[in-house]
Amino acid sequence: MKNPHRESPRVAVIGAGLGGLAAAARLAATGHQVDVFDRQSGPGGKAFSETLGDYRFDTGPSLFTLKPVFDRLFADVGRRFDDYVTTTPLDTICSYFWRDGTRVHSSRDTERMAQDFARAFGEDPDHLRRYLSYSGRIHRITSHLFLEHSLHEWSTYATRGFWSSLVQLPRIDALRTMARANERFFDDRRLQQFFNRYATYNGSDPYQTPATLNIIPHVEYGMGAWAVHGGIHAVPRAIEALARDLGVRFHYGQAVERILTTASRRGRPGRVRGVRVGGEERAVDVVISNADVVSTYERLLEDTSARLYRRYRKLEPSSSGLVFYWGLRRRHPELGLHNIFFSDDYRSEFRQIFREGRCPDDPTVYVNITAKEGAPGDAPADGENWFVLVNAPWDQGQDWEAEADRTRRAVLRRMSVELGYDVESAIEVESRMTPPEIQARTGSHLGSLYGISSNSTMAAFLRHPNRSRRYPGLYFVGGSAHPGGGMPLVVLGGRIVAELVTRHHG
Ligand SMILES: Cc1cc2nc3c(=O)[nH]c(=O)nc-3n(C[C@H](O)[C@H](O)[C@H](O)COP(=O)(O)OP(=O)(O)OC[C@H]3O[C@@H](n4cnc5c(N)ncnc54)[C@H](O)[C@@H]3O)c2cc1C
Repeated sequence: MKNPHRESPRVAVIGAGLGGLAAAARLAATGHQVDVFDRQSGPGGKAFSETLGDYRFDTGPSLFTLKPVFDRLFADVGRRFDDYVTTTPLDTICSYFWRDGTRVHSSRDTERMAQDFARAFGEDPDHLRRYLSYSGRIHRITSHLFLEHSLHEWSTYATRGFWSSLVQLPRIDALRTMARANERFFDDRRLQQFFNRYATYNGSDPYQTPATLNIIPHVEYGMGAWAVHGGIHAVPRAIEALARDLGVRFHYGQAVERILTTASRRGRPGRVRGVRVGGEERAVDVVISNADVVSTYERLLEDTSARLYRRYRKLEPSSSGLVFYWGLRRRHPELGLHNIFFSDDYRSEFRQIFREGRCPDDPTVYVNITAKEGAPGDAPADGENWFVLVNAPWDQGQDWEAEADRTRRAVLRRMSVELGYDVESAIEVESRMTPPEIQARTGSHLGSLYGISSNSTMAAFLRHPNRSRRYPGLYFVGGSAHPGGGMPLVVLGGRIVAELVTRHHG
């Protein structure tokens, strides 16, 4: 039978995570017929939403940066991000607490921050100025090359931007670690710790990861952070609404069981021809997997002999996290939207996570409270919704109930000392998420938050390519594929994949 939509390729997207949503919206805008399948009951993947009694929580990401990436997604298809979701630039970005009583607030106003750092740490304000200009330089050199294009397509290497980035690569500080570079820039140990924390923005270890990751402070201070009205989950909701407006069909509560391919020829796998969902086959021309690379090969292709799969399995995953969702019937004026309570010994914290595979004895505690800014309805008027995140190793078969109990006690002890009362007594509702639960809920390999870690200099080149050469018609988007994890990065991945699909199946 003749296909009435012959010139309009059919695309199945497996997963309504942010990367899958971005690719789906863009492809619908260029005339593809797009169906998105997700086994969860709605969009967002890791950026899901959960309600416990009177309290709502974002389940995963909490810090919203690089808004221009989202603006561009909407602008490229003729819409405005701001028409779909409201955001407010944060003046105070995060409040930082040390055990010795030091308190500082990070701010988009970097001059004010330099003065605050001088007061709190006695640090010369010029140190911050020089650091941020260095961070901005790394961003200028690397963003075009590493974030906006596939690193696995010859066409990337034919662009002018590539060559101008390439000649400047020696200036991206790839030969020393982040921690070593930060020791050179700042005299005060607490300030070194402050900037070492940025390694955790992609699940890496500041004592191993190359100093190139010092690009991240530029993203936060040079470009800003925003509060999202309604909480982070409003972001995937907005992209989903955009995609629906452009004609994308969503199928929730439907797990894709298999990616179907044509018969193999001369020992090589065939090309993609469809997906199997709920026991039924659906014919498509293109499949975009927003599921983790490992589960795509193991479960959806049942192909564990693929070279890229075997290589990927050997790479070190990014760190995972222990998340506690606490609804507290009490308000804390000293806390803001984002709060960090630093441990005393950062080096040993990362050693325990990355080398010993256990949760730190004295963890740095992150507390996000959306009811403070952007989403006042997320908690009752006399309460707060605490999303508490502690960095943890990826799942290596640890006793996670014991690890979570031990960590919960350490966090409660710390918070009670900081706030001057027994915090546990204010908890009205609670739940938690361990690394195996992160894997069970989102399919993320071993519960890693951001795909593979960036602890090696080569990590950027080792992420899975966005286009499969082994299976023509198969594409990868999301944290485990290029350019890596984090909300803006997977949305950039959606653009790379949409461009590749349009080029090869337009
Ligand atoms: C606790 C935590 C904190 C984080 N904090 C931040 C932060 O502050 N800022 C930031 O930028 N990033 C943060 N991140 C990372 C960020 O959430 C992720 O990088 C990003 O959301 C991943 O998007 P993705 O496109 O890879 O899809 P994912 O979110 O991984 O979603 C993949 C989707 O695919 C679906 N799926 C998988 N297999 C199938 C199948 N067979 N059939 C159908 N559906 C399937 C899953 O159900 C899921 O919905 C955090 C993550 C976590 C978990």
